[in-house]
Amino acid sequence: MVKVELKELKKTYEKSKVIAVDNLNLTINEGEFFTLLGPSGCGKTTTLRLIAGFEIPDEGKIFFGDEDVTYKKPYERGTAMVFQNYALWPHMTVFENVAYGLKVRKVSKEEINKRVTEVLELVKLKGMEKRYPNQLSGGQQQRVALARALVIKPRLLLLDEPLSNLDAKLRVEMREEIKRIQRELKITTIYVTHDQEEAMSISDRLAVMNAGKVLQVGTPEEVYFSPKNIFVASFFGKPNIIEAIYEGDDIASLDKGTKIKISKAEEGVTFAKGERIRILIRPEHIIPYERKEKISEFNIVKGKVVFKMFTGTMQELKVEIGENVFLYTLIPSDYKLEVGDTVGLQIPVERTLAFKAD
Ligand code: ATP
Repeated sequence: MVKVELKELKKTYEKSKVIAVDNLNLTINEGEFFTLLGPSGCGKTTTLRLIAGFEIPDEGKIFFGDEDVTYKKPYERGTAMVFQNYALWPHMTVFENVAYGLKVRKVSKEEINKRVTEVLELVKLKGMEKRYPNQLSGGQQQRVALARALVIKPRLLLLDEPLSNLDAKLRVEMREEIKRIQRELKITTIYVTHDQEEAMSISDRLAVMNAGKVLQVGTPEEVYFSPKNIFVASFFGKPNIIEAIYEGDDIASLDKGTKIKISKAEEGVTFAKGERIRILIRPEHIIPYERKEKISEFNIVKGKVVFKMFTGTMQELKVEIGENVFLYTLIPSDYKLEVGDTVGLQIPVERTLAFKAD
């Protein structure tokens, strides 16, 4: 277990002149499951490769505990990395793939047998020792890759989009497995993904990145419920972001004059009267008005259902509440509504988050 500190890290790729990592500061606590989350190209993999030692930063420092590892070779760092494509050796059996890292470290045959057996049990691959990678399913190959990383007892586990080659059901299964193993071993883990749902379900804390910078760090609940800016807010789920004019006293008006009482996303922020603002409302927080007791005088809007999508226990409705102003809502499927119906919607004030438009 080790604490990882990234201090003012910067990395520019000479060829592309891209600033992949831009003054990045992060602390990952001992034993923590920490995720770097962000859209493609935001610098997640580069950050992970800097931590592993596959890349050297132009500026900044990397500490493992008190140890400065910024310029150490990858094999001196005590980390292990699992790659998206597994990178298993096709000509080696499962046993040989997993044992390889111990062999090159000159561990005794007896100890190798013991540790490979233990780790294959941990990843639930007992009995598969003699198979070759092409005789395994994608999920099993992923388990071998994980076993190969864990067998060397790294102080830090690095996972780069390890589930992206698996189908949806297997992804969820393996996600739970990785979390179980991480909890059992209590190993500090840094996970890279662009999948917000995966990041929220697996992480103790996460960092949302964009264009080489960290925009927000927090628990999944913190970044979901208290996003610091509109980018972070819109990265999670499929929120409604509607434009409005601030009228003063926490009231904003939509076009056609519908008034919305808002809560501000950030403490201390002030809006001027007449200022254009953006209001974030999550579909699952909108309540069909007829169904629930009225909880406020404010924020009841009427509209027409223009699209309906059945998703199982819930239905997604697109409701036109003004000219070209739409609200997506997610409400239980047993609530009967069809395209063309008029519906009343209540937007709880505490569920609105208002941001400056810029
Ligand atoms: P993805 O999710 O698509 O893997 P990412 O968030 O992991 O993306 P990086 O792979 O770290 O992002 O890339 C960050 C930026 O650096 C991108 O603009 C990318 O094009 C650029 N980049 C990455 N590797 C190199 C390289 N070896 N040479 C030049 N530019 C690179």
